[in-house]
Amino acid sequence: MVERRPGRGMGHQGRGRNSRSEAASARPHGAEGTAAAASATAAAGATVEAAGETLARGAALADELLAPWLACLEERLPEIPLLDCHTHLGSDADGAQQSAKELIEALDRVQGRAIVFPLRRPSGYRQANDRILAIAEASEGRLIPFCRVDPHADGLAEAQRSLDRGAAGIKLHPRAERFSLSEREVDRIASLAHERRVPMIVHAGQGIPSLGRDALTLAAHHRAAPIILAHAAVSDLAWIWRKAAWHPNLFFDTAWWNPSDQLALFALIPPGQILFGSDAPYGRTMAAAAVALRGALASGLQPWQIAEIAGGQLQRLLTGQDPLDIGPPTWRTPPAPGPLLERLHTLLIAAIARILAGDPAADQLELARLACRLPASHPDAEVAASVAELLARYERIRHGEPPSHRPRPNGIHLLFLAAAVARMPEMPLPDREALHGGR
Ligand SMILES: [Zn+2]
Repeated sequence: MVERRPGRGMGHQGRGRNSRSEAASARPHGAEGTAAAASATAAAGATVEAAGETLARGAALADELLAPWLACLEERLPEIPLLDCHTHLGSDADGAQQSAKELIEALDRVQGRAIVFPLRRPSGYRQANDRILAIAEASEGRLIPFCRVDPHADGLAEAQRSLDRGAAGIKLHPRAERFSLSEREVDRIASLAHERRVPMIVHAGQGIPSLGRDALTLAAHHRAAPIILAHAAVSDLAWIWRKAAWHPNLFFDTAWWNPSDQLALFALIPPGQILFGSDAPYGRTMAAAAVALRGALASGLQPWQIAEIAGGQLQRLLTGQDPLDIGPPTWRTPPAPGPLLERLHTLLIAAIARILAGDPAADQLELARLACRLPASHPDAEVAASVAELLARYERIRHGEPPSHRPRPNGIHLLFLAAAVARMPEMPLPDREALHGGR
């Protein structure tokens, strides 16, 4: 069932050997020297550019540093091709940015492919959509373009135009563009998706009135349109799981940081309706895979079902086929991890919540580090040591970077993964050789 592809994981273990020297080279340097030689304006520009490069290198380094935690899953999940259903290109007013080159390099590290659409453009999406189409065209199948449209700004016409030019789906962001899914124009866009049998991915989260209810109505009225609720539908997950099986064209992506939300998704939603996504650049494909594949395994899903979540089902949807029914939810949450790992998990969640709010969370991270010091003979000592290693790698990245940047510091994905490792201690972990190259 699982398509075999050349080694996703082995290369990462090998590359891990160079991580120390890469960490050193990721430290910011040179920006000041360039600035001294140039005019004040040019200096400011050069500094910004150098900081951007430093951040891009830091993001790449973060991937390298957490790669062993993805590679070690291969013993249970051999060679699962990844198709990330949720990535953005461009730059956003919140500080997020990602170039096509950065995204393709990140995908190369997992030998994956991705659906891609623009970040927010208050001035309209026509140009941004054309850019995405051109980038995808040049990517030799690595990137699959979706158009982003604003229903209040001629969204239907722009969706039609973009689909005619080769877009494979539509992205809607009700919060950024301030609309609700119950609006007439949204229904017309969903009707277009139904006619063309293309997916429509919808940002889901707080602040969007009746999102879940309206999504169910859209899914019922437009049954040939796969409707994907992003971010594990966190705002409606408490109840919408009971309705999911009745709406087989309603999907949920895994692009969300909190492993507990993902575990609820894997336990309660039919696996054929879950799609792997990262939300890059807010997430990272490799980190998201290390967490989501771990969660899917810990929830009792079978490797062939996980291969469908990782990309098989989405590939089917992209070619206009009906989704495959791959069985009911597992109704299984991994058992609580024992008192010492439970507190480590909650300390990490508290730290992440503060970091996402813009605080470095030094105290919480220090407590988490101390919470990793289990007696060597304790059955959870190896798991705690793995978490401690992730925390140490996070610090390595933070020291190589400007003090803060929006919207998320590089390396925060190591903390997402650390929280997942603490919560799911029975999942595979990288051995010493994978982490330190035998040193
Ligand atoms: Zn997104």
